[in-house]
Amino acid sequence: MRTAICPGSFDPVTLGHLDIIKRTARLFDKVVVLVVINTAKTPSFSAEERAEMLRTVTKDLPNVSVDVYDGLLVNYVKQHENSVIVKGLRAMTDFEYEFQMALMNRQMLGTTDTLFLTTSAEYLYLSSSAVKQIASFGGDFSRFVPAEIHDKIRDRLCK
Ligand code: ADP
Repeated sequence: MRTAICPGSFDPVTLGHLDIIKRTARLFDKVVVLVVINTAKTPSFSAEERAEMLRTVTKDLPNVSVDVYDGLLVNYVKQHENSVIVKGLRAMTDFEYEFQMALMNRQMLGTTDTLFLTTSAEYLYLSSSAVKQIASFGGDFSRFVPAEIHDKIRDRLCK
């Protein structure tokens, strides 16, 4: 049984993330979407709120579960046998950072592999921070996020 771990901030989850999660769910027996704490970022939603939004938007995907981890990704991976990390890649800008992270994780835990799925073209420029920027100025961000969580994002961010 192969498990894919999809880590990220998901602050909040976008249709770009969901596309990667759905495609990963078709490739692996089990997928864990993991909300990790990135100390370099100040989130708009708590880790539990982000996990709750992820649970809402993945409720129809039977082999997908959501977890929160406040620690090093490699330690989480170590606890889950036969697992690989799966990440989405947008443009070259993601590549430099993700390549470095994948090599660091492999250096720390020799058995860790990271697989990359290229984004679908329509989500190439989509990021959580762009959604937050649009929402905070009252713009229409409905085509970028799952409909079920739209109002929660608007209520939190719209000034
Ligand atoms: P991070 O804090 O690692 O940047 P994010 O929540 O931004 O985490 O993203 C989690 C994962 O989803 C990362 O691998 C990121 O590259 C990927 N991702 C984010 N937005 C998109 C998108 N629009 N298309 C494909 N992958 C994406």
